[in-house]
Amino acid sequence: MDIDGKIGAVMLMRSKDFLAWVDDWFGRVLKRGPIGRGLDVLLTDFWTWARVNSLYPLHFGIMCCALEMAAASAPRFDAQRLGVIYRSTPRQCDILLVNGPVSKKLKPDLRRLYDQMSEPKWVVAMGECAISGGPFWQSYSIVEGVDQFIPVDIYIPGCPVRPEAMLEGFMKLQDKIRKEKKGALTEEMV
Ligand code: SF4
Repeated sequence: MDIDGKIGAVMLMRSKDFLAWVDDWFGRVLKRGPIGRGLDVLLTDFWTWARVNSLYPLHFGIMCCALEMAAASAPRFDAQRLGVIYRSTPRQCDILLVNGPVSKKLKPDLRRLYDQMSEPKWVVAMGECAISGGPFWQSYSIVEGVDQFIPVDIYIPGCPVRPEAMLEGFMKLQDKIRKEKKGALTEEMV
C-alpha cells in the first residue's frame, strides 16, 4: 500500500481502532525504545512526586474498621489533604486498602481485585483483622493475615485503627513511594 493509501486507512479508522494504532506505533518508540527509557529516567522524580501526592486506595472495608476509614476522610481528619482519594474500581487505584477479617471464601476475590490493579501498586493492611486475623485468629473460616496471599507494604495496627493512625500509615506509605522512586515503565515494557 502506498503512503496515500496508509493515510487514508488511518483516517477511516474508528476511534477505538485509531487509539489502538497510536498506542501500538507510538508505544513501540516511546515506551519500549531507548527514547522511552531515557525519558523515564529523566521524569522519575516527577512520577514519584505525582504518586506521593495522589494516593488512590481501593477501599476494601469488611467490618468495623471501615467506619474509622470513613472518619479519616471526614472534615475533622481530612485524609484528602494528603492526596488520598478513594475509588471503587481496581482499574483506577494504586493502593489496596484492606481492613476487617478476610474469610477463606473471600480470599480469591480479593486476590483477583489485586491482580486487576495496574502497576505500580501497594497494599495497606489496616487493623488487627487484616494483619493477623485479630479476634478471629485461628478461626476455621478466617485467613490469618492478608500477607498470606498478597504482598503487604504497610501495616497499621489497632482494633479499631484510629483515624490519626491511619493518616500516619498513609504518610509512611508516601515515604516508601519516595524511596522506591519507580518509573512509569513496568518490567514487561522495558
Ligand atoms: S481490627 Fe478490630 S475494629 Fe478492626 S475490623 Fe477487626 S475487630 Fe473490627
